[in-house]
Amino acid sequence: MNAQQEMPQPEKIELYEARKKIFPKRAEGQFRRLKWIIMAITLSIYYITPWLRWDRGPHAPDQAVLIDIANRRFYAFFIEIWPQEFYFVAGMLVMAGVGLFLVTSVMGRAWCGYTCPQTVWVDLFLVVERFIEGDRNARMKLDKAPYNFDKLRKRIIKHAIWLAIAVGTGGAWIFYFADAPTLLVDFVTLEAPYIAYATVGILTATTYVFGGHMREQVCNYMCPWPRIQAAMLDESSLVVTYNDWRGEPRTHGSKKAKKADFTGGDCIDCMACVNVCPAGIDIRDGQQMECITCALCIDACDDIMGKLGREKGLISYSTLEDYNSNMALATDPDTLDLDPNRIRNENGFIDQIKHFNPKVFLRPRTVMYFAIWACLGLGLLTALSLRDRLGVNVQHDRNPVFVQLSDGGIRNAYTVKILNMIQEPRTIIFSMDGLDEAVMEINGFENREARTFLINVDPDKLRELRVFVKQPKENLTPGSTPFKFIAEDRQSNERDIYEANFEVPEAGK
Ligand code: SF4
Ligand code: SF4
Repeated sequence: MNAQQEMPQPEKIELYEARKKIFPKRAEGQFRRLKWIIMAITLSIYYITPWLRWDRGPHAPDQAVLIDIANRRFYAFFIEIWPQEFYFVAGMLVMAGVGLFLVTSVMGRAWCGYTCPQTVWVDLFLVVERFIEGDRNARMKLDKAPYNFDKLRKRIIKHAIWLAIAVGTGGAWIFYFADAPTLLVDFVTLEAPYIAYATVGILTATTYVFGGHMREQVCNYMCPWPRIQAAMLDESSLVVTYNDWRGEPRTHGSKKAKKADFTGGDCIDCMACVNVCPAGIDIRDGQQMECITCALCIDACDDIMGKLGREKGLISYSTLEDYNSNMALATDPDTLDLDPNRIRNENGFIDQIKHFNPKVFLRPRTVMYFAIWACLGLGLLTALSLRDRLGVNVQHDRNPVFVQLSDGGIRNAYTVKILNMIQEPRTIIFSMDGLDEAVMEINGFENREARTFLINVDPDKLRELRVFVKQPKENLTPGSTPFKFIAEDRQSNERDIYEANFEVPEAGK
C-alpha cells in the first residue's frame, strides 16, 4: 500500500444544488384570509389605477395617475410634480424605505409575506395551478406521471393562463405612462410606440418566469432583502416561531397524542406546516433566511391543534424575548409546580404562557423609525402645500459674458425661463431690481427698452426668453454687480426672484 492510497480523499463539495420542486398545499385560516384580502387590494390597485380619471381642466391630462415622460410631469390625483420638484418623489421613496424598516422591526418580513409583488403574483399563479392541476398531492402525482393527453392538456391550459396574467401585468404597466384608453386602442391596432411593445414583452417574460417558474428562488437568490432584514430585527420583533418548548418531543400521529396518559410534546409531526410552506422549509428547524413570514404554517398548525382540542399557537408570531421567557418557564421546575419539562393546564395540555406583547410596537427603535417617517411625511405635506406654482430660472451667457456697445455701455445676455405651473394661462410681470440705470430688451418685444414687461405664459408651460440687460457707460461699475430678476403674478400674489450678476470688465481688460 503506498502513501497516496492511505491519504483520506477530501469530501466533494457541490457548489450547485438543483431546485427541489415545491408543491404548496392550500392553507385555510386567518392569515390565509388576510393574504387573500391584501392580494385582492394590491392587484386591484395595480390594474385599475391607470383607468381612474381626474379632472384637471382643459389644459392637462385627465388620468388620475400618470407619468408623462414626454412632457416631464408626474400626476397623482391632485398633485402635479414638475422635474425640478423631483425631491417630492425622492422624499416619498425615502418614506417608503423608512416605512419598510419600521414594519420589519415590528413584524419581520411582513412585506415579503403579504405585499411584495413577487409574493402576490406567485400566489396568483398558484391559484391557477391548483385550479387546473389540483392541490398538493394531485400536482405531485401529475408531475411524476409521464406525459399523456391529460397532463399535456392541463399543462397547456395552465401555462396559457399564466401567460395571459403575465401579458395583463406587463400591459397594465405601460398604461401608467400614457393616456390609458388611447394607448389601449393604439396597442391593439399596432400603432403604439415600439417601446410600449418592448416593455410589455419584457414584463410579460419576467412575470411569467418569476411568478410561474422561479417563485421562491427569486426571494432566495435575487432579492437582497432577506440578507438585509437580519440587521432590522431584534429580540422584540415578531417572527413566525415554532414553540418547541411545547412542541417537543414530537409524537408521531394524533392517536397517541389523544391518549389520557400522553406526556409528549404537542407536535404530532403531521407535516401540515411544511406542506403549506411556499418556501418549502420546515419552520420547526428554527429561523431560516428562506422564511418570508407568510404565516401559512401558523394556519396549518392551528387547524391541527384545533382538531386535537389543544390550544392554538404551537407555531405563532412571537418575539425572541417571549420565546426565551416561555422556554425558561417551561424548563424551570421551581417556577411552576408542574411537570419539569412541561406546563400543562387542567386538561393536561400544554399552555402558551406568554402571548402577544404590545410592547413590540413601542420601543426606541420603532418610535425612532416612526418619528423619522412621520417627520418626512409632514415635511413633504408642508412643502407640497406651500410650494410656488410660479418660477423663474436664469442662465447668464458665458461666451461672451458681456458685450461692449458702440456708445460705451455694456450689455449682458441671459436666457430666462418663466414657469407657469398651474392649469390656467397667466400674465406675469417680469421686472428687474437693482442696477438702477439699466434697462432690459427682450427678443420678440421689438423696439422696447424697459425695466418691466408683461409676459403671457400658457397653462402648465414654461416660456423661454432671451433677455439683454444694458447699462449706460456713466453708470458702469467694474466687476460683478448683483441684481434681481422678478417674476410676479399679482392675482395669486405669487412671486419668484432670481439673483443674477451683471458683469463689467475691469479697467484695462
Ligand atoms: S415557514 Fe411558515 S411563515 Fe415561513 S415561509 Fe414557510 S409557511 Fe411561510
Ligand atoms: S403542523 Fe404543527 S403539529 Fe403538524 S408538524 Fe407542523 S408543528 Fe407539528
